[in-house]
Amino acid sequence: MKVLVVGGGAAGVAAAAAASASGADVTLLEGSDTPGPNRALFPCVLSGECPPERLRADASSLLRSGVELRFNERVQSVDPSSHVRTGSGRFDFDSLVIATGSRHLDVETKGTSKPGVFLLRSLDDYVALSRSMAGLSHVAVAGSVPLSLMVAQILSQGSKVRAFIGQSGLRRFSPGVRGAIARAAAANGVELLNADVGAVVGTDRVEAVVSSGRVYPCDGVVILPRGTPALPQTVCRTGNHGGLLVDRWMRTSSKNVFAAGDCAELRLGPASVPCRLYSSARVMGDVAGINAAGGAVQARLAGCLAMRLFGAEVCAAGIEAEEGARIGLDTVRVDSEVVDDLSGANPVYASVVYDRSTRRVHGIQVAGAGALSLSEYASLVVALGVSLEELAYHESPYLPGFNRDRCPIALTAGKALAQPEPRTLEAPSTHLRHG
Ligand SMILES: Cc1cc2nc3c(=O)[nH]c(=O)nc-3n(C[C@H](O)[C@H](O)[C@H](O)COP(=O)(O)OP(=O)(O)OC[C@H]3O[C@@H](n4cnc5c(N)ncnc54)[C@H](O)[C@@H]3O)c2cc1C
Repeated sequence: MKVLVVGGGAAGVAAAAAASASGADVTLLEGSDTPGPNRALFPCVLSGECPPERLRADASSLLRSGVELRFNERVQSVDPSSHVRTGSGRFDFDSLVIATGSRHLDVETKGTSKPGVFLLRSLDDYVALSRSMAGLSHVAVAGSVPLSLMVAQILSQGSKVRAFIGQSGLRRFSPGVRGAIARAAAANGVELLNADVGAVVGTDRVEAVVSSGRVYPCDGVVILPRGTPALPQTVCRTGNHGGLLVDRWMRTSSKNVFAAGDCAELRLGPASVPCRLYSSARVMGDVAGINAAGGAVQARLAGCLAMRLFGAEVCAAGIEAEEGARIGLDTVRVDSEVVDDLSGANPVYASVVYDRSTRRVHGIQVAGAGALSLSEYASLVVALGVSLEELAYHESPYLPGFNRDRCPIALTAGKALAQPEPRTLEAPSTHLRHG
């Protein structure tokens, strides 16, 4: 079985390794001259936790596993029946994994060519900002969450930061989690604004940004451009967000063609959702690689986040209620505030989103002390499609001083079962995004 993998990022490397371990004869085509860097670690370059040279993916384990690596082979078109074409020629396959990731959209904000503006697209851009940030006193950060919050948090160590997080602001989080993040940001001196930056102004360099008709003085502007799937020319079907539509087996609409990572989009009910996360890319790549080599495994995706934002622990898996309504599910959200049983303090905010008719849990979020320890649990519940009853009535660990009898997630599921029939959420007009 000859498996061709296109793209040498997190998803492509996982797919190539998995296909090779399954006994296939694997070739990986990467458009640049090295494997893709781990982009999830870019913020660690900014914080100084990781030297830039550590970010290059190590190709040696792939070579040891017998994968043939071909660099500077950018795939231009895919004929799903047999081959792809690059600038140098044609590569045949029995099955193909497309893992070409995402690319940045153009930034349309006026004034971004001024000195003092940092557009964060590549590793070099993060390195450039890390060298300049000590000289910045007031910084405007513009981009969607959670990345804008992660960058704002790092910059707030040495500068006064305003984060322009777009019209939808923190709406990918439930109200309790949103409140916990906003309070933690404010306690660290970071102002969060639910608005976009309209223009960057200044005579010789940045002096201010303009947003919703107001002028905010600053000497540095950091812009995180939005991403969109990067696809070669192909006839495979695409989803609502422009990615290659895949099922849980990572199969596209074309026989023997699989897709994984940021370039793919998972069919969910009548719609589809992007999963632009490192964790999703890895598991999608594993599954695509195994199935391209003749296997039949399913990916259990949860789109899970686990991070410390301005000191507040946050974990989230699956979708928020509004997003569920938008993709045609009858989703309901239940929120809880749980304080520990010894001190009566240390609130933990939890929410559970479920489908009213099937009672399947589609989303879990937790913020507060101990939330990170629940991230794997939240991910598994969503990924396996556990029901509200299963979640409420399984044995949940009791940890004196952390929860009241049961984990905040199980308590919230129990609260959902105890309350009267909740109202249906209307589909929102705004558009919530993953990644
Ligand atoms: C700044 C930043 C921070 C992030 N933080 C997190 C985080 O904390 N947690 C998390 O889970 N996720 C995070 N992510 C998301 C995560 O990094 C991505 O979801 C993941 O890297 C996607 O992997 P991928 O393999 O699909 O794509 P990529 O890593 O982009 O790899 C795609 C590869 O395909 C190659 N390629 C593209 N087109 C072609 C072509 N036509 N022919 C051949 N090769 C091609 C590219 O050169 C590239 O090497 C972050 C992303 C960014 C940008």
